[in-house]
Amino acid sequence: MNATQPSRSPAPASYELARIRADFPILAEPVRGGRLAYLDNAATTQKPESVLRALDDYYRHRNSNVHRAVHDLAERATIAYEGARDRIAAFFGVAREEIVFTRGATEGINLVAYAFLLPRLKPGDEILLTELEHHSNIVPWQLVAARAGARVVAARIEDDGRLDLEDWRAKLTPRTRLVAFAHVSNTLGTVNPVVAMVREVQARGLPVLIDGAQAVAHLPLDLRALGADFYAFSAHKLYGPTGFGVLYAKRERLEAMEPWHGGGDMIRSVSFEGSTWNEVPYKFEAGTPHIAGAIGLAAALDYVAGIGLENIEAHEHRLLEEATARLASVPGLRLIGTAPGKAGILSFVMDCAHPQDIGAALDQQGVAVRTGHHCTMPLMQRFGVPATVRASLALYNGSDDLEQLERALHKTRRLFA
Ligand code: PMP
Repeated sequence: MNATQPSRSPAPASYELARIRADFPILAEPVRGGRLAYLDNAATTQKPESVLRALDDYYRHRNSNVHRAVHDLAERATIAYEGARDRIAAFFGVAREEIVFTRGATEGINLVAYAFLLPRLKPGDEILLTELEHHSNIVPWQLVAARAGARVVAARIEDDGRLDLEDWRAKLTPRTRLVAFAHVSNTLGTVNPVVAMVREVQARGLPVLIDGAQAVAHLPLDLRALGADFYAFSAHKLYGPTGFGVLYAKRERLEAMEPWHGGGDMIRSVSFEGSTWNEVPYKFEAGTPHIAGAIGLAAALDYVAGIGLENIEAHEHRLLEEATARLASVPGLRLIGTAPGKAGILSFVMDCAHPQDIGAALDQQGVAVRTGHHCTMPLMQRFGVPATVRASLALYNGSDDLEQLERALHKTRRLFA
């Protein structure tokens, strides 16, 4: 039985927002006694009925531990779990052996830092990042750099939020051992020119990791064609469950790496004299995995495939233009991050109040946004702000959400003026 079949949604003929929205029960949840405008999608996305059903179906009808056991339920769980790996690999155009299941983008990046980079890192080596990285794509590299006497270097960001490619190239030196950057910035919405960047890094014979946490739900992605050595993302930002994610890695990279975590499933044989390792990707999947997480992500991919990522991208782009115009109508509001071709993330500050107070006032009006540094403290420093308010879009947002945001911002301004 194919694990992903129960969750498959028929493709809509065109972008049917009302129908799409009806797939997400939580969007009808009243908040503060009124309508919810959920604009915190960069933090996490809501889950469609089909994902909820896939999770429920798994626990009701297939729950068991995967691999090894011979009984019927264990076989059902294993088929569903490994079927999910097939589905995920096919969705991104890569081989199943290249899909390592993780707890999320953060764990995927740590895996590469510790299992791939650390053993190859020497004193004086450099890891090239950019100023717009999430802490998850900074701190793991700092940790391994400190152990090896290496250091982290970050390329500049322009005033509009674009990566300064000249600076990035200048910092790509003979000391560079690995290059890592976000596909899409979670704070600015900047979409990096990843195809060209991967080619440039690989032309120097260097490995490249892309943090895809903010990209996978918003634009079509063929990982084989992109050709990065490593690409990490989380299921929960892609309409799937929390606590689950994927590290894509080229097979030859995985084969050349030693395990990171030890435990069940990642071994071929164990004795007190020494142990040998399972084949890839299992070599990197120690312990009982998040079985429902994999099944939930496969269901989420079926869901977005049913709508079409091209359609989602076009819808969100139209919404971003509308949102930008609406925010421009609010006096004293300054957008941070205006790079051409950016994704549906709007970070801003207002001259009347601190972002935290604006966020709280918006919440009172049913608008869910995020405030703070968004785990990008170096970027806050770069733009000279302690925090921003961030509204971030998803496939189920519409003009009504943006109108609610705009109205709430005007009211908030009057409140603090
Ligand atoms: N990178 C980026 C760009 C992100 O936006 C996030 C989540 N905010 C992460 C990494 C980390 O994702 P997770 O917490 O799901 O591991």
